[in-house]
Amino acid sequence: MAHPDCCGGDDDRDPLACPVCGERGHGVDASTATSFVPAVHLDEAGGGGFWFCDTPGCAVAYYPPGGTPVFAGEIDIAVGIKSPDPAALWCYCFGITRQAVRERMASTDPASAEIARRIRAEGCDCVTKNPSGQCCLGAIRALEAG
Ligand SMILES: [Zn+2]
Repeated sequence: MAHPDCCGGDDDRDPLACPVCGERGHGVDASTATSFVPAVHLDEAGGGGFWFCDTPGCAVAYYPPGGTPVFAGEIDIAVGIKSPDPAALWCYCFGITRQAVRERMASTDPASAEIARRIRAEGCDCVTKNPSGQCCLGAIRALEAG
């Protein structure tokens, strides 16, 4: 899926099912994996790449084909879409939390509008800042839509 709002992070490798929830996740860029996946898992995967599980209720963050999944609790920062914590970041580039998104969702300037504006003005770095390796806007717009 293309993310026209943003810097990319798209990966056209085939979707691969998460070994725990069975939903198809998306392949992440090698720089996303090296930013977040603990070294022991990187070594084990041997450069075969990682996929990210997009299912909010699934504890898996990353998984290599046929290898051991990496749980969200194993990485150094909270994975916003998988965390119930209101203080968890949803937009990693501009530091916007789940709580901030919710508080502004009914305002005339919702978080998604600010993020879209700032991406145009300042650029973004989702590939190495967002654990999903993708632009946050899709998830944030879904959160705003309730
Ligand atoms: Zn999963």
